[in-house]
Amino acid sequence: MGLQPKNVLITGANRGLGLELVKQFLRLQSPPKTLLATCRSPENAKDLNDIAAKHSNVKVMKLDVTKPADIGECTTRLNGYLVKEGLNLLINNAGIANKKQYLGNLEKQSLIEQFDVNIFGPILLSQALLPYIKQAAISSTDTSLNCNRAAIVNMSSILASIAENQNGGLYPYRTSKAALNMLTKNMNLDLKSEGILCFCIHPGWVQTDMGGPNAAVTKDKSIAGILDVMSKMNGETSDIFVDYNGKSLPW
Ligand code: NDP
Repeated sequence: MGLQPKNVLITGANRGLGLELVKQFLRLQSPPKTLLATCRSPENAKDLNDIAAKHSNVKVMKLDVTKPADIGECTTRLNGYLVKEGLNLLINNAGIANKKQYLGNLEKQSLIEQFDVNIFGPILLSQALLPYIKQAAISSTDTSLNCNRAAIVNMSSILASIAENQNGGLYPYRTSKAALNMLTKNMNLDLKSEGILCFCIHPGWVQTDMGGPNAAVTKDKSIAGILDVMSKMNGETSDIFVDYNGKSLPW
């Protein structure tokens, strides 16, 4: 069975990998019934709004993952969209990498901002949406763990890997994404008995605003790989930190 989650929510869906996720979800053989494409400024999200104008299953919603009020509002609005089916797939994609990254120029504010987006946001959003994800797991006739039934996928980075760190630097980004990996492992352990699959994925070094124009991988290739990984990931493997080709990465 291919990737065909009914209800999906993506953070940071207005540009970069989030927007590409929206585009490629719509090209699946069975696109989501409801694709909740969230971003912090819907009024400025031209590309996303253009897509939503052509696809009635795409709902653009305001969600700054650092704002508890936005998370609360978004959670309340989901009631109207998801009815009894719940949320099958949450993709915590939004992330930032600020410039001040080295020991010599680090500022507390930069650390706080990156932890806020890269780890506090995914924790608090996952917590808020968990009742909907549990509902999806319960209401499915499927009893296995997979992204069609109920899953949380966190967009991590190879830069979060402690084992692979050869260069140092990038303090707030590496540490906040390493914390995201621990969140993923914890949720994987805590939620599998409830039928919810959790894993984290490194998209490759990708040509986005964050990755820059010289990055090795196109958005198209990265997200095509990620959707393929999502279609195959199940509860049988303990390798839950993987790249966009499905290769297992060391913590
Ligand atoms: P971009 O910088 O291109 O896009 C980042 C997205 O995150 C934007 O949609 C941005 O919205 C959103 N965002 C930032 N802050 C918030 C917030 N507070 N609330 C909601 N959304 C927010 O990055 P990529 O698309 O390249 O990255 C996507 C994910 O992939 C990130 O988690 C990143 O760490 C990870 N990644 C990327 C790699 C790469 O090479 N590109 C490599 C490894 C990991 P806005 O437009 O409003 O700023």
